[in-house]
Amino acid sequence: MPTPSSVYLGVDIGGTKLAVNAIDESRKPCCPNWVEVPANSHLGPDQTVAQIVVGLRAYLDREKIALSQVASVGLDSPGPADINGRIEMSANMHPAWEGYQLRENAQKAISQAFGQSIPTSYENDCNAAALWESFAGCPECTEVMALLAPGTGLGGGIVINGKLLRGSRGMGGELGHVEIVHPWFVPGQEVPRCGCGQQYCTEAYASMAALMRLLPGALAMDKWKDHSLNQIQGEDVWRKRAYQVRGLAAKGDELCQSIFDWQSQAIGKLCRQVACTIDPTRIVIGGGFIEGGEALTTRIMGIIRETFKTLAFKKHANEVRIEVARSGDQAGCLGAALSGWQLVHGQK
Ligand SMILES: [Zn+2]
Repeated sequence: MPTPSSVYLGVDIGGTKLAVNAIDESRKPCCPNWVEVPANSHLGPDQTVAQIVVGLRAYLDREKIALSQVASVGLDSPGPADINGRIEMSANMHPAWEGYQLRENAQKAISQAFGQSIPTSYENDCNAAALWESFAGCPECTEVMALLAPGTGLGGGIVINGKLLRGSRGMGGELGHVEIVHPWFVPGQEVPRCGCGQQYCTEAYASMAALMRLLPGALAMDKWKDHSLNQIQGEDVWRKRAYQVRGLAAKGDELCQSIFDWQSQAIGKLCRQVACTIDPTRIVIGGGFIEGGEALTTRIMGIIRETFKTLAFKKHANEVRIEVARSGDQAGCLGAALSGWQLVHGQK
């Protein structure tokens, strides 16, 4: 049973590290910064579950939280996973992850390590982030909200009156794979396929993966063949070059700024599709895309809003708020914790 001193732990499992933070009974974050330990996911799922316990213990020690205060643990991971936290195989994963029941196995390990039964929930990472961003922006839980998070891919999540739209299989809110009509950045070139195999997903335009597919054509254009990005050489050169684009755009580089402008238009077009589908109160933009400093973020948000306004129904153009995410990379961890809070309070 929850008490005023209950603590709800959240574990954000990333590619290389896992982060732990928590919220209290009133759903306030217990601490501004998290505890981080290696995720060890390349060694297999059992090693990651062991690391979850290590991370939780380190957090409880640091924050001087007693075991008796722990009411739940919420987990999130990049997935793909189903609604019960059963992991599906994807590229570059240790084979033992295929079909692994992450939520169930983590719950067993945590309950055993802590000597008490601890309810454990699971969300995919973008859903967890959306859940937290909606709560942070509208604690009354009276909004229809979508999160769009362009980063490595383009993640999404939908929250309606404080509840995630998980869908019937946990596959709801995959907004990055909604198609848009958007001419390719390099004139005359076909739009390269998205990671999912389709051609016109918004993720194929606005993500780090898209940037890596775009740069070879862009940097071969007459106008840009002397661009400083062409001087970067060595192994995995397109990834290295792609990672420089945001910083250069922030400094006003003409090519990099025009790439960001074009990607922002793609996101504005996606906002229109989202508005037609869920009639939102708010659309929140998060992810690495908006972390290039205040000036670049202002420019990006201006283009997203402008593109949306010209395409959307009049009522949507006038009323849907398009806002910057508030919690940065903490959102996943805190959203996982909030998912556990909802589980304990019968609201999941
Ligand atoms: Zn796709």
